[in-house]
Amino acid sequence: MKKHDFTCPHCEKTYKINTYHIGYSDICELRCDSCSATLMLDIYSSNYLNLYKKHSSYDEKFVRDLESMLNPCKCGGTFRLDAPYRCKYCNKQIELAEIKRQIDFVGIESGRPGLIITGKAPTKNIWRSGGMK
Ligand SMILES: [Zn+2]
Ligand SMILES: [Zn+2]
Repeated sequence: MKKHDFTCPHCEKTYKINTYHIGYSDICELRCDSCSATLMLDIYSSNYLNLYKKHSSYDEKFVRDLESMLNPCKCGGTFRLDAPYRCKYCNKQIELAEIKRQIDFVGIESGRPGLIITGKAPTKNIWRSGGMK
């Protein structure tokens, strides 16, 4: 994990955002569609593995199914794989290009930008079916 200084282009607050190199992690990240919370799912959790067995690929259906299995964020929003990044102070959307411009993060050039965390969501009791297994 690396911390980077980032200045929000909207509210101009400077704070740390964390990046992870996705290649070394067993994590799938989903962002809340209405706040800056990022949910980090362990891809070896039984819920995740069972879902993968059912679909046998990470396609659109897998993604929608995964999203529908999760409890809503504490703000009431829904965790989505493709939700935009948001500022944790003003909650405005931040373009990935803006993050790339400000932070020096190698993995960001590849198709998957790695894991960028502006705000972290709790992972307890995130599955609709019960606790995280
Ligand atoms: Zn939220
Ligand atoms: Zn802001």
